[in-house]
Amino acid sequence: MSQRILLVEDELGLVMTLSDRLTSEGYAVVTAQDGDTGLARATNETFDLIILDVMLPHRGGFDVCRDLRQRGVGTPIIMLTARGQITDKVVGLKIGADDYVTKPFEMMELLARVEAQLRRATIGGTLSNEVYQFGDVRVDFRRAEAYRGEDVVDLSAKEFKLLRYLIEHRGAALSRDELLNVVWGYDAAVSTRTVDSMSRGCDRT
Ligand code: CA
Repeated sequence: MSQRILLVEDELGLVMTLSDRLTSEGYAVVTAQDGDTGLARATNETFDLIILDVMLPHRGGFDVCRDLRQRGVGTPIIMLTARGQITDKVVGLKIGADDYVTKPFEMMELLARVEAQLRRATIGGTLSNEVYQFGDVRVDFRRAEAYRGEDVVDLSAKEFKLLRYLIEHRGAALSRDELLNVVWGYDAAVSTRTVDSMSRGCDRT
């Protein structure tokens, strides 16, 4: 089955060029030409990847990205930034985008990034065979180990599960109840402050 890509872009010429090329590469492409439509489609349908322009009518790409992550939609997002402005890149990554491409871009560059994101996302459907890196912290999901620099961070199974859930839902606001349910299950013996103390514990390591 073809992998589905949602393209949210308002420049018609670029929409046509990108749709044609992505389709010829074997992807199923759905387009939205403003932020509201893009947000609605990305929320209500399932996609393997979202290509999201920053400058959009009605609702900008940053807002769309942030809203999707807050709704718990974890689909990989590549932002198309109009300028090479560093602030665009930083803001985009901070609100949960996975990658960005600066306009004007070479088609080959975008295709390579699309492939890279899809490869990341399809391994095990989650991060099960992945290594995730942020700063000097590296999380190896295959070995279920976390490292700071060269040192192994000592984590319990539940702490690792929590870390994994937070990484898989990075950029999203997660409630204490959600974390309790996902990581601890419906265990009546667990106090709701457990999440707080564990996250403080994680901070220290
Ligand atoms: Ca635009």
